Amino acid sequence: MAETLDRDEVAAVLRERRREAVARLAGTGAEREAVVAAARESVTDDEHDPEGSTIAYERRMLDALTHDMRERIAEVDAALDRLDRGTYGTCERCGQPIPVERLRALPAARTCVACASR
Ligand SMILES: [Zn+2]
Repeated sequence: MAETLDRDEVAAVLRERRREAVARLAGTGAEREAVVAAARESVTDDEHDPEGSTIAYERRMLDALTHDMRERIAEVDAALDRLDRGTYGTCERCGQPIPVERLRALPAARTCVACASR
């Protein structure tokens, strides 16, 4: 018999990932506010002041990180939803079971390795 993943174990792993992403998202939000506040305080213009461009760069980085965390949370939510509906661990494209090792490495994986690399 093929090795299967324990449903509760998977749910726990996914919830932990979600918690981490939410915590990072909150941290990023606070950091972004600090950067924006710092930018507001500085009376120099963005284009010619090296510090201004650093602030713009930091904001871009934080925005990218925020976007990544939101995506990660959405992926985890989708995986939890599949777990509820009993479709977790089934490849979305070919309908074949996703190998347990892949799910261990990527608990929110939607596709098998073959489909992911296609
Ligand atoms: Zn597949």
